[in-house]
Amino acid sequence: YTIGEALQRAVQRWPEREALVSVHQGIRLSYAQFGARVDEIAAALLALGLSPGDRVGVWACNCVEWTLAQFATAKAGLIQVNINPAYRLSEVEYTLNKVGVKVLIAAESYRSSDYVGMIEALAPEIADSTAGMLDAARLPTLKTVIKIGGAPRAGWLRFDDLPQLARPVQVAKLLALQPSLHARQAINIQFTSGTTGSPKGATLSHRNILNNGYFVGASMDLREGDRLCIPVPLYHCFGMVMGNLACITRGATMIYPAPTFDALATLKAIESERCTGLHGVPTMFIAQVEHPEFKSFDLSSLRNGVMAGAPCPEEVMRKLIAHMNLRDITIAYGMTETSPVSFQSSPSSPLDRRVSTVGRVQPHLECKVIDSDGKVVAHGERGELCTRGYSVMLGYWNDAEKTAEAIDADGYMHTGDLATIDAEGYCAIVGRIKDLVIRGGENIYPREIEEFLFKHPLIEDAQVVGVPDEKYGEEVCVWVKLRAGATMSEAQLREFCRERIAHYKVPRYVRFVEEFPMTVTGKIQKFMIRDAMTREIA
Ligand code: ATP
Ligand code: MG
Repeated sequence: YTIGEALQRAVQRWPEREALVSVHQGIRLSYAQFGARVDEIAAALLALGLSPGDRVGVWACNCVEWTLAQFATAKAGLIQVNINPAYRLSEVEYTLNKVGVKVLIAAESYRSSDYVGMIEALAPEIADSTAGMLDAARLPTLKTVIKIGGAPRAGWLRFDDLPQLARPVQVAKLLALQPSLHARQAINIQFTSGTTGSPKGATLSHRNILNNGYFVGASMDLREGDRLCIPVPLYHCFGMVMGNLACITRGATMIYPAPTFDALATLKAIESERCTGLHGVPTMFIAQVEHPEFKSFDLSSLRNGVMAGAPCPEEVMRKLIAHMNLRDITIAYGMTETSPVSFQSSPSSPLDRRVSTVGRVQPHLECKVIDSDGKVVAHGERGELCTRGYSVMLGYWNDAEKTAEAIDADGYMHTGDLATIDAEGYCAIVGRIKDLVIRGGENIYPREIEEFLFKHPLIEDAQVVGVPDEKYGEEVCVWVKLRAGATMSEAQLREFCRERIAHYKVPRYVRFVEEFPMTVTGKIQKFMIRDAMTREIA
């Protein structure tokens, strides 16, 4: 069914239960309250003259309004466009025009980003416009701008004032609209993280993401009454699907500790809200266990959660189970284009498998691992992972060519990731094809070296890339972040490697860094490391 129907069922089943807690905003909403507010916003969007299929952009960090907009657009049959909170002027202009956004819901600002200022710089016409009537030269499709929070401003509607637009006639229209909405319709354009280059806009349907949220919840054993801490961005599938939709379909509470990831705020929220689950990409979990105040928090309420989005080091998994009380934590693998999750371990899988693989394929999905000729490889052999089923996106927005490159004629999504699947169906992600280092004809998998370096007691994080080399084609380079207060020399690091790994895998270039170039989703952008080193070497 549709996301609107899923929400309706949640409201009927658990009216009194908390649906959403935004710790940083001091807002708590029960399912009944949440459902009612969603309906008001959805009716208001209809009052703005939008019709099914129109695009509504949402540009904000994690907040209640983001999630109200997510469900309101779904109920009104509109397509929500998630806009990256880190975007600047030209990226926003490109995105709004590319997908033809008619209504933009934007936060006022976040840290050094003045969202309202950027939009007005692009469309000075706003100041003299009325809602629904904007006519801006550089943003030709945009008709209405809505601002979250702050003082009134000429030309902008305020999010909190939207319910006033929802007259009985619109409420009736919203009700009448529901039976005509279909689960296979597009409801969301989500952008990939931009880990390997420019983000791509994946068009997803109710069926795609609602089912995925449900099965992610099932696989991690999310139960009625659970309280899930969501420090991952809502603009990304990790927050809006694996967080929000998992909770809504299973009667759990969504808890937002902060607008963007903040290790301390997350730890505080877990303690004060007695969270039972915690999501994160590896860098977020590392930041919490390495936080100087980590030991002072009571994390005894925790039980489960999902680590995903990038290779999840075994050492980190073991630490979370031992020190963070996350005894049932699982690893998931997926990509924006597949709604996202296609593999996930279960709390009941054997521990060894749970920390070293991404589990088995999710219910109702199919997978295969192929070689470069497209032939399926034997169990345990490396190849490109392909997945098929309900979760595969409708396509990249308005880009038939890129879509055809990614999804083959049989409906398989080619992930661009290298994996192995053993005879029992457990899948291990070896790395991205793009990140593979080929040195003198020898394939080197960065992840293997990274996993090895993670075992060093002084190393907090290590990222391996290939850089151009005249003699070998490529050479191994590592950027290392040491634990607070630790010191190590290049020679010591190489020494450590030389004793334990094959000579050709020992990094030729070693750099100690304080931080890595990162996406808003907390993923390390290896292409930036590669570019920086290539320039340095040249
Ligand atoms: P872009 O496609 O823009 O370069 P991205 O691929 O990082 O960015 P996402 O859709 O957010 O964008 O992430 C999907 C990718 O993340 C997968 O293709 C895979 O490389 C990686 N990934 C996700 N989960 C895991 C995991 N558990 N282990 C290893 N890698 C993972
Ligand atoms: Mg990708």
